[in-house]
Order: sequence, then C-alpha cells, then structure tokens
Amino acid sequence: MDLLNTLVEKGLRRETPTREEALAVLATSDDELLDVVAAAGKVRRAWFGRRVKLNYLVNLKSGLCPEDCSYCSQRLGSKSEILKYTWLKPEQAAAAAGAGVAGGAKRVCLVASGRGPTDRDVDRVSRTIAAIKEEHQDVEICACLGLLTDGQAERLKDSGANAYNHNLNTSEATYGDITTTHTYADRVSTVRQAQAAGMSACSGLIAGMGESDADLVDVVFSLRELDPDSVPVNFLIPIEGTPLAGDWNLTPQRCLRILAMVRFVCPDVEVRLAGGREIHLRTLQPLALNLANSIFLGDYLTTEGQSGKDDLAMIADAGFEVEGTDTTTLPAHRADALAAAGAGCGGHGGEGGGCGPCGDAAPVDAVTAQAVAADAALAETVPAEAVPADAVPAQAAAGATVSAAAGPRESHADLVAVRRRGAGTDLPPNA
Ligand code: SF4
Repeated sequence: MDLLNTLVEKGLRRETPTREEALAVLATSDDELLDVVAAAGKVRRAWFGRRVKLNYLVNLKSGLCPEDCSYCSQRLGSKSEILKYTWLKPEQAAAAAGAGVAGGAKRVCLVASGRGPTDRDVDRVSRTIAAIKEEHQDVEICACLGLLTDGQAERLKDSGANAYNHNLNTSEATYGDITTTHTYADRVSTVRQAQAAGMSACSGLIAGMGESDADLVDVVFSLRELDPDSVPVNFLIPIEGTPLAGDWNLTPQRCLRILAMVRFVCPDVEVRLAGGREIHLRTLQPLALNLANSIFLGDYLTTEGQSGKDDLAMIADAGFEVEGTDTTTLPAHRADALAAAGAGCGGHGGEGGGCGPCGDAAPVDAVTAQAVAADAALAETVPAEAVPADAVPAQAAAGATVSAAAGPRESHADLVAVRRRGAGTDLPPNA
C-alpha cells in the first residue's frame, strides 16, 4: 500500500504526515488492519525497539472536583460510586508508589483531582515526591495536578518532578462540548508552562467521546505542534454516573487505527496505551504493543485495570520486554534536547524538561540514520511488513469477529469495575 510505505518513510524521518494521510489511516478497512499495524510497528520499533515502559498511577486525591469534564467520574455532581478521599499523606503515597515500582514501573504518575493546585498543594506534592525519591532514586515522577498558575511548574520541577501531565483530550472545536469550566487554551497554556519550567511534557487524548475522524486528527496534530515527550492515548471508560456513561463508540479495530495514526504523526514520542485498553481492545490488546511503547501497569485512577501480573504476561507473550531504569526511554535526539534544556531526569537523561519542535533537536540526517539502522537490524528478526495471512494471531481473528458482530455498543457497565483497592484504601494495590 503506497500510503503505508509513505507513512513509514515519513515516520523514520520524523516528518509530519499530511492531514489526508492521517485521515486515510483511520479510514482503512478491516482487511488492511494488520498491514496498518505492521507499518506503524516499524516506526515504533525504529525509535523504541521492543521495549515497553511501565507507568503507575497514584491518585493522591480522589473525587470532589469542582470542574465538569463529562468523561470524568470525579467531576462536579458525579453520581459515580467511586472512592472519594482527600490528599494522601506523603508516606501513604510513597507506599502506593513503591508497589508500582516493585511491579516494574519506571514512572510514577501522581494525580490529584481538582481544577489546579494551590501553593499549599504544591508543597504537599513536593513532600510526596521527596518521600518517593528517598526510597526509589531512579523512579521518574510525573505530576498531574490540573491547571498551573505562575511559578508552580518551576516549584514542582525544583522539588524533583521530572514530568508534568495535562491532556488536551479532544479537538479545540469540540472541547466546549466536553467541558465548560475551563478551556482548551487553558490546557495548552499549562503544558507550555511545564515545558518552559524544564519538565518533560506529557499530553494526550481521549478517544470515544463521539468525536469525528477530523477531530481526532486535529487533536493529534495539535499535540505534534505542542511536542510533548509522551502522548497517552485513552479510550473512554464510560463510567456509570457520568454524562458519557452510554458512549460505547469504539471497536478494537478502531482503537488500533487510532494508535497507528498517533504513531505516524508522533513517531519518536512515547505513545502510551492508557485508560480503557482492556474494555475496548479486549483480546486485541497485545497487538497494540506494536504501536504504543508504554502502558499503565494495573489500575487506573477510579477504575480497575487488568492485573499487573497479566500486564507483564501480555508483554512477554507478545515478544516485548519491560524497559528497565538503565535504559533511556526517548530516542537520543529527544533525550539530548531535554538535557540541553537543563532538565536532567532520574539519572538517565530519558525524561526531563521542555523540548523544541520536532526536527530542531538534532540533524535530521543523523537521526534518520539511527532510525533506519535500528529498523534494519530489527527487520532481520521481525519481518513485520509481510505478515502472511496464515500467521494472523488467533486473537486478531477473534477480535475481528467481535467487532463485526458487536459494532458500537450502547451500555456495557459490567465491563467497568470501580477501583476499590490500592491508594486510599486498606487493600493491597494491583501492581
Ligand atoms: S478531569 Fe480533572 S479537572 Fe476534569 S473533572 Fe476530572 S478531576 Fe476534575
């Protein structure tokens, strides 16, 4: 397929595809799906090999948010029967983080509900970061505390936060349909503040909220322009008690196409398979590892994921390996850009601060040579571009049947389990 060859070449050169090419990926047929996965997989392997980075979520403060994000169980007026608690103490958060690290997580994501932190909250989180780093010097810390005000990003950076997450979630055009209490521009501004302070920016999207293909391409192109180092791709978890509880719009095939499109548009960025993978990709989850190079281990903020043990088994079974703390996640040109920005990070230069637009950080020829060489080496052992029909994984065939038979669904609340263990409870976490 000319489209896929073109996209692979562009991905290896870090060249932006056209909007038409990105839309064409989303419009491919089920017959073409494995070719799409194989092509985007070549780009993934060129920049990230077969490594999978594990991230672990700790919800520092759950529920009770004054904002109205329609997808969120912690929103104002939420009827969701989630755990609700105020700030965990630093030692409680450190214990939760430790479970994730013991399970293989390289990054701990400290999340708190709310519009944004007060300065006192930033102090609290700083103490929590110190408590975690005292036990685990090498762990990367990403803070996700909402909209930042002047000086807060710098304070978080100084306290040891390596990264800051704030997702764009959906296109600018549809943002007002999802949330009314803050704007898309507010979100962009916070990501830029994190970058300017020298933290590695993490910003992604949620698919499945009724958006069009054009909306998805818009938000992914906006992310490319913003140039975060990591892009979490969430698939909406339609949680009972939220306005989007009935939005079961995704099929496993659609999820794979979305991930492939993100990989082609953001080829050298840590693409993270995030919330909703279990319930939307279902038996096709392992195929998504060919596209994303990062996942969350275990549970999400207010819902349960598959067991951490199953995550590790899935990675091994699919022929991938968990990335260790001795390996830099990002390709050299991005890691070097972070170091040049003065970020430093976790002792390995892999995650740190802000970065310039794609293509600014290193001579393109040198970078392309690295990608092409890596891909050539991999191609000897993994001839992904030519997946014979009789080698189609059983789960892919099964998934295709599920999609064809089921299509978009109206309600499957039984697939969503509210989190009752881990942070904020007395029960052991899933890690
Ligand atoms: S996404 Fe964040 S800001 Fe929005 S309602 Fe949920 S916790 Fe509040």
